Amino acid sequence: MSQDAYSEGDLRNTGMSLRHDREWDYELDRIIDEIEERDATKVGLQFPEGLKRRGPAVADDLRELCDDDVTFLLSGQPCYGACDLDTYLMRRTDVFVHFGHSPMKESDKIIYVPLFSNVDPYPIMEESLEELDDPDENPDVGLVTTAQHMNLFEDMCEWLEERGYEVHTRRGDDRLTHEGQVLGCNYASADIDADQVLYVGGGKFHPLGLAMEHPDKNVVIADPVNNVVTIADTEKFLKQRYGAVHRAMDADKWGVIFCTKIGQGRWEIAEKIIEENDNAYLITMDEVTPDRLRNFNMDAFVNTGCPRITTDDGPRFHKPMLTPGEYEIAVGNKPLEDLEFDTFHGTW
Ligand code: SF4
Repeated sequence: MSQDAYSEGDLRNTGMSLRHDREWDYELDRIIDEIEERDATKVGLQFPEGLKRRGPAVADDLRELCDDDVTFLLSGQPCYGACDLDTYLMRRTDVFVHFGHSPMKESDKIIYVPLFSNVDPYPIMEESLEELDDPDENPDVGLVTTAQHMNLFEDMCEWLEERGYEVHTRRGDDRLTHEGQVLGCNYASADIDADQVLYVGGGKFHPLGLAMEHPDKNVVIADPVNNVVTIADTEKFLKQRYGAVHRAMDADKWGVIFCTKIGQGRWEIAEKIIEENDNAYLITMDEVTPDRLRNFNMDAFVNTGCPRITTDDGPRFHKPMLTPGEYEIAVGNKPLEDLEFDTFHGTW
């Protein structure tokens, strides 16, 4: 995804940003224990984009703690989520350490090191109370957050309860590790019995999807990194999506993108489109970027991979880029009112 998209809330802006130059707990002792337990000699290390710069130093620290025969290999592949494991490196190592995201699917070989934010969320949560209903009138509130703040989730629930709220939480589905966790493509943890939801986390990246997915709920954003409280507003986003759908309505030739990243494949959806449309061509790729698509002579694209590529980076592609649901509208199978946020369920 683009720099712009991420400035709205990836690790770089969720308290993990290098500009803050924080120290993270890389859980080196746990990693060393696992290496020794498995007699591993090849260890893969994968960092999200915002923390790649730290990779060599972490490898150095691990080398010092290990026997000389252990080799550490750094993944240079882009990484935006636990859906995005470097499977090439994983196959060639005895232990594979994935930093910065919570597990999407456990495996004996993978060690997930979540890297929790150390930003204090309570001052901004205090401010966010002004945007929530008075608990004497409406005590029901949902609470969700991202993996980076998950270590404080129970404390945050208690904090709200102490202020008179009845906090509703749930673990969405098996794409999510924790109760109350949301991803940029999955807001099932907000399917709770409350008409207001407090999202604690960086940027507008996640809560916008949350508000689209739950239009009946007031989504209050308490952003402890940028220190602001806002209400998620979907209007601008919807306009952008309607614009893309309209531009694609005249398309003859469609490029249907099937993403080969381990946790981003939606084969049935891609297959259904090409089976039903003789002018649709399946294109497989890992990173979906404007440059990689430029040479295909298509009128429009439909992306079955990460939904945020479509919604956040959509305007950067030379031809309209739609979600599978938007494609159905553009080809006339569904009415415009059916436009909704593209969410992703399940693992692999
Ligand atoms: S598919 Fe979901 S988890 Fe993966 S990068 Fe996209 S939004 Fe994040």
